Formats: sequence, structure tokens, C-alpha cells
Amino acid sequence: MPIYEYRCQKCKKVFEKIQRVAEGGSRLVCPHCGNKKVEKLVSGFSSKGSVSSSSCNPPGGSSRFT
Ligand SMILES: [Zn+2]
Repeated sequence: MPIYEYRCQKCKKVFEKIQRVAEGGSRLVCPHCGNKKVEKLVSGFSSKGSVSSSSCNPPGGSSRFT
């Protein structure tokens, strides 16, 4: 089963959450403080800093160069 790591943006604590693939709704709350703003940590990458993975698609439409 896939276990994802999340980090609370409020108390900065990292917790693990088992998430099923079938579940579409991502209702994640911090088990420490109950904050809903948590960010997903991608394991395998050692990228420091704040990488916002909330928006994958850039708002600009002309990104194709053919
Ligand atoms: Zn928290």
C-alpha cells in the first residue's frame, strides 16, 4: 500500500498517510493540530526549499513549440 508523507503548513510536522488510489477526495488534516493545509512530500526527491506542487499546469496556454 502506498504511504505518502505530508507536512502540515501550520505546525510543520510531517506525518504519513496511507492513501488509496480509488479515493479521489483528498481530505487531509494534520493529526497534530487539525490544520487542513498540508503539503504532499514526494519521497525520492531531495529537493530543498518550497516547491509548490499545487498547480502543475501553468496558466499560460502557449507552451507548445512544434
Ligand atoms: Zn499541524
